[in-house]
Amino acid sequence: MSSARQRFNTQMKKRIYWVLLLLSAVGVVSACMLTLTVAMQYSMRQAEQMICDLTDTISASYSYMEQEAYLEMLACLPDNVRATFITDDGTVLYDSDATESEMENHFGRPEIQEAMEQGWGEDIRRSATTSISSYYYAVRLTDGSILRLSRSYSSIRGMVVGALPGIAVILLLLFGMALYFSRRLTRWMIRPVERAVRALDHNEEGGAMYDELTPFVSHIRAQDQQIHDQRVTLEQERETLGIITNSMREGLMLISKDKTIIFINPSAISMLTGRKADVYEFQGHSYLLVNRTSELHECVMAAMEGDSRDEVFTLYGKIYHVYASPMMRMGQVHGVVVIVLDETQQRLAERSRREFSANVSHELKTPLTSISGYAEMMENGMVSSMDDIRVFSASIHKEALRLIALIEDIIRLSRIEESPRQTEELQAVSLNELCAAVAESLQPVAQKANVQLHLEGSVPPIAGAEAMLSEMVYNLCENAIKYNRPNGAVWLTLTDGDGEIEVKVRDTGIGIPEESQMRVFERFYRVDKSRSKQIGGTGLGLSIVKHVVEYHLGRIELDSALGSGTEIRVYLPK
Ligand code: ADP
Repeated sequence: MSSARQRFNTQMKKRIYWVLLLLSAVGVVSACMLTLTVAMQYSMRQAEQMICDLTDTISASYSYMEQEAYLEMLACLPDNVRATFITDDGTVLYDSDATESEMENHFGRPEIQEAMEQGWGEDIRRSATTSISSYYYAVRLTDGSILRLSRSYSSIRGMVVGALPGIAVILLLLFGMALYFSRRLTRWMIRPVERAVRALDHNEEGGAMYDELTPFVSHIRAQDQQIHDQRVTLEQERETLGIITNSMREGLMLISKDKTIIFINPSAISMLTGRKADVYEFQGHSYLLVNRTSELHECVMAAMEGDSRDEVFTLYGKIYHVYASPMMRMGQVHGVVVIVLDETQQRLAERSRREFSANVSHELKTPLTSISGYAEMMENGMVSSMDDIRVFSASIHKEALRLIALIEDIIRLSRIEESPRQTEELQAVSLNELCAAVAESLQPVAQKANVQLHLEGSVPPIAGAEAMLSEMVYNLCENAIKYNRPNGAVWLTLTDGDGEIEVKVRDTGIGIPEESQMRVFERFYRVDKSRSKQIGGTGLGLSIVKHVVEYHLGRIELDSALGSGTEIRVYLPK
């Protein structure tokens, strides 16, 4: 802004300077011309007056002199005065500039006519004889003849022409002065304006400046402030927009009509390129540089034609849903907005829900089929002896218990899955007491399996859901007993860690093969299906554990070696 003001200042200075200079030059030239004209007019009037006076004086002496002597006297007049003596019939008796006989009759001349009629006459004209512009003055003498004196203006003009070099020098001098004063005057005139400009540039009080400039300066200052405020607001908005787009989990990309990227956010880069990169690497380049997936390309092409389109595609092991919409301005497509959503979790959850329904049906069907089979056999009288009835009833009872256990686990799991974490529902839970109670309740099971169950360590209370935590510890310990060997052992250890509490369940059991270690937390996953069923497993125990840990914002770790044992560690924030 300051340079614009500087330029304005210079332009203004130049203009004022040239106007002043032009005015001075016009003034000087006009003054000279006017003076010359006035001086010339004055000299002409002087010359005319001199001719009049001389004519009157000479005419007065005519009556005292002989005509011949009179004419001789006329010949003695100065050279620049032309004397003409004309008789009353118009014949020229004497003329100081031309031979009398060569001269025509002068009776028709206006000044002669006037002199004949009223005693005197005058005229200014170009002489036919000498062809020079002259002043003529004629007087009627006592005998009716006319005395005429005249003087040409050429001598006066000559005088003016002679003075021209001097005038030129004066003109030059005056022009030089005009140059000097124009410069000084311009500076003097512009100084208050410069002061005002400086005050605006440095945002300070202007000091002495034109009063007329005060509203102008205040207006500019107000505008400056307004522009500054707008810039700050714009910067803030841009920053906010930057924060939003940078922290968005969704990928956002704006593509221009010529298919170059106008804007791309970091999420879009990492999703579509599979790596982290600077946005400037892609902005201004073709969107195909980011990704060449056909689905994305089709969406962009459709949006370029004015249609919104969305597609789902798999990229770098993730499932992405891309939406492309046209950016319309005045009914014309000016570009495309692309939004990319990572729907991997959602789609996997959908898949696992579908699988879960299928699994549940299957899991429920198996014991029911057995029950139905046993009952049918009994109905058909195929079981006759009391012993057989007892065996078949026991089998039906066992399958029914399995069914109940399965349904209870499903109910528990869906309850945990569907209950959103609510901090106000958390209460102080003493894991020491909770683990002691679980260990006590599992003691008969442990004894039956010939496994030693040990509880170690102590921790301060944590905020949690007691029933869920109890179920978690129970499932872990029950598994450690179930998948143990005779004379084996289980250690339930509580450790107070840094910011979190560790609940560790270690056993000396059969262990989990490496390829299954990541899958044991999936619903209905069992390493050895028949063994698990045999010992009453539902395949949901560790799935419940995983959900309880997630509900408490904790994490879970598993270490296992086939044949030597398993260790599962749960970390819960304090
Ligand atoms: P289940 O009801 O069958 O025990 P879980 O979800 O509790 O289901 O466990 C899933 C599978 O993980 C089990 O079937 C079993 O094969 C394996 N497993 C769980 N805990 C242990 C453990 N402590 N030792 C060995 N295998 C285990």
